[in-house]
Amino acid sequence: MTGTTSSTDLFSRARQVIPSGVNSPVRAFGSVGGTPPFLTSAKGALLHDADGTEYVDLVGSWGPMILGHADEQVVEAVREAAGRGLSFGAPQPGEVTLAEEVVRRIRPVEQLRLVNSGTEATMSALRVARAATGRDVIVKFAGCYHGHVDALLAEAGSGVATFAMPGSAGVTAATARDTVVLPYGDRAAVQALFAERGSEIAAIITEAAPANMGVVPPREEDGIGFNRFLSETAHAAGALLISDEVLTGFRASAEGYYGIDGPQGGADAWAPDLMTFGKVIGGGLPVGAFGGRADLMGLLAPAGPVYQAGTLSGNPLATAAGLATLAGLDQAAYRTLGSASRTLQQLVADALTTAGVPHTIQRAGTLFSVFFREAPVRSYEDAKAQDTAAFTRFFHAMLAGGVYLPPSAFEAWFVSTAHTPAVLDRIAAVLPAAAAAAAGG
Ligand code: PMP
Repeated sequence: MTGTTSSTDLFSRARQVIPSGVNSPVRAFGSVGGTPPFLTSAKGALLHDADGTEYVDLVGSWGPMILGHADEQVVEAVREAAGRGLSFGAPQPGEVTLAEEVVRRIRPVEQLRLVNSGTEATMSALRVARAATGRDVIVKFAGCYHGHVDALLAEAGSGVATFAMPGSAGVTAATARDTVVLPYGDRAAVQALFAERGSEIAAIITEAAPANMGVVPPREEDGIGFNRFLSETAHAAGALLISDEVLTGFRASAEGYYGIDGPQGGADAWAPDLMTFGKVIGGGLPVGAFGGRADLMGLLAPAGPVYQAGTLSGNPLATAAGLATLAGLDQAAYRTLGSASRTLQQLVADALTTAGVPHTIQRAGTLFSVFFREAPVRSYEDAKAQDTAAFTRFFHAMLAGGVYLPPSAFEAWFVSTAHTPAVLDRIAAVLPAAAAAAAGG
């Protein structure tokens, strides 16, 4: 179903009526150049565009399509839910089951509220944290992206990184003053800030494993992981830790990144106070969620004083898609995902090494990204020091060969359970030419 309108025509029409022709900045291909393919259908690991071209997809709608596109069980669940009504604006069974499923899998989450995007989830978590502590200041890390919440846009990753923006116009000075940005992984900077301003800090927010400046997993020092360090430092000052698992949740592992660096209990027990989710738990429909300690979640209206609401929150189609996706994510699915991820990492590393392209691949569970520089990337500064021009050449050669990568050197690559060995072979066939293109600056 390609239609007769080309991507070029659609992009030019789009630019008349939609700013830059897109509804989310990175889609405009601004940093890599060229016309973005306008997609008309997708199945499994494959995409089809308006020009009749087929691509192997390594974006996966930026995370939700973990079972591949148009998974039969997920589509059937949505179809069935749609037949029973598209939205009620009233409680419905699916939202209870989805909340129970998240609470069952993610130990620090005692209660959960569903929203419509990751942005809403982090925005609402900040509000709860400020209400709980009676404090205003939020600490975030450079290169971490938490959605386009005013308070969290400073030195953010993802599209903000792609377009080299320091933050955003339109954020008030007062809002910016209440956000302190520190270098990721810099414990001395965290300690110095808390020593000076600890009593003003409501919360630290961090990606459980940053993946919006490329993947930069948290590091251990003296046997203590960075997330645990943040939790202990925040708690010692009466502040909270918000762990953003919008991207890593149900992807890095079955229990998200907390399943990888969270404790098994005992003396080392630590937990974020609040967590945020999105992407996978909506199965491709608009969903976010925030949850955590029951005493904190109890602050929400109507029982508590923190107002938070949504006309479409807990939407029956979205919860059906999310539940069907989680149902498909059994142990075998995570094994498939892990194996596809590892195989692809190896294929990319081999091709870039053969072509003599400096690179480093970093991972957080099944999630990974490729940096076009030799040295490990531990911070946003490191990530920005990569050769983005080499990435752009690589990206376009991959696209020309039928592989659709994230159009930015600062994004993770997303595989799905539909990335079978046959699909990975198709990627492998394109990699040598793309690696040569990256080398040939
Ligand atoms: N937090 C993280 C860690 C994310 O990766 C994203 C989106 N990529 C968001 C929040 C914002 O989610 P959304 O785009 O659904 O608003």
